[in-house]
Amino acid sequence: MKLTFFSAQPYDKVFFEEHNKQFGFNIDFFEVALTEKSVNLIQHSEAICVFVNDRVTQPVVELLAAKGIKIIALRCAGFNNVDLRAAAHANMRVVRVPAYSPHAVAEHAVAMIMTLNRKTHKAYNRIREQNFSLNGLMGFDLFEKTIGVVGTGNIGQVFCRLMLGFGCHVLAYDVKEDKGMLEAGVIYLPLEEVLSKADVLSLHCPLNEKTRYLIGDSTIKRMKKGAMLINTSRGGLINTISVIKALKSGKLGALGIDVYEQEESLFFRDLSEHIIEDDTITRLMSFHNVLITAHQGFFTQEAMDQIAETTLSNLKAFDSGEPLANEVKISS
Ligand code: NAD
Repeated sequence: MKLTFFSAQPYDKVFFEEHNKQFGFNIDFFEVALTEKSVNLIQHSEAICVFVNDRVTQPVVELLAAKGIKIIALRCAGFNNVDLRAAAHANMRVVRVPAYSPHAVAEHAVAMIMTLNRKTHKAYNRIREQNFSLNGLMGFDLFEKTIGVVGTGNIGQVFCRLMLGFGCHVLAYDVKEDKGMLEAGVIYLPLEEVLSKADVLSLHCPLNEKTRYLIGDSTIKRMKKGAMLINTSRGGLINTISVIKALKSGKLGALGIDVYEQEESLFFRDLSEHIIEDDTITRLMSFHNVLITAHQGFFTQEAMDQIAETTLSNLKAFDSGEPLANEVKISS
């Protein structure tokens, strides 16, 4: 079977080519994102493989169907960028990688907390300038602080355990409680209570109609003054304009984001020679208490191995007419 990859970075090629040695697919790698225009790059493929910022909209699905595409393989967990209804209508299957090293993303969220709290990013630059002063670098002990977690699925659970390891109190909100988390010492509360008690709030739920702008004016109002907000999940969980307002007033004490609502025109590219037209991200970049990383939470060797292996196994199952264990359907 022939596969066409979109948004393929050099590291994708390295990992997929290595794992494909056992699968033997014929693969075309394209660095461009999937768009109505780039669909034309597909030649004699039955499958496409896409990533988080490829927008598989209804018109794109229709064009893919006309090209003979039978299956869309997401090499990520989130699937908010695929119009599942349009795919089902076109009789096109959709598969994803539901879990790949949840440690990668959870540990990145912890790294963001540690950086923002202990200001190691500033210390690194200061020391290089022979500035050994400590002014402005004071943090707080994480021990016995209250961490709020929204979403205790694969990643949220690892994150909770890491924070429990720091000696934090962990409060969580999820639409369903997890027994293992309760046994580990996590306390489930309604969202409003988690918001009002958390010193650090970390988002680990998916983006859908219910969670879009979960953090906006009304929810920020409920948060503790000076709380830290971490989002490694999806940019649309946060109303960025509300968050900027809260950072300016000091209501939010720090922000760490690995995802951004308008990230598809920025992330995974070197724009160092370009003028950034997005005034919202440049405003965020101007705050000393904001840390932005460009969707790198997943980016560990272990996760890349699992992503390549699961994606190719999903496609092998499809090619052999076997059941698709990682299929995404409208009700998912
Ligand atoms: P998961 O499906 O295992 O867990 C999601 C959890 O959120 C579940 O427990 C679910 O019940 C809960 N949830 C659903 N709706 C909710 C709501 N309205 N309010 C509160 N909780 C709700 O997913 P996961 O593997 O833990 O991934 C979480 C998110 O992390 C993904 O959706 C994806 O967007 C993001 N992610 C980011 C990266 C990255 O590189 N930054 C990598 C992988 C995943």
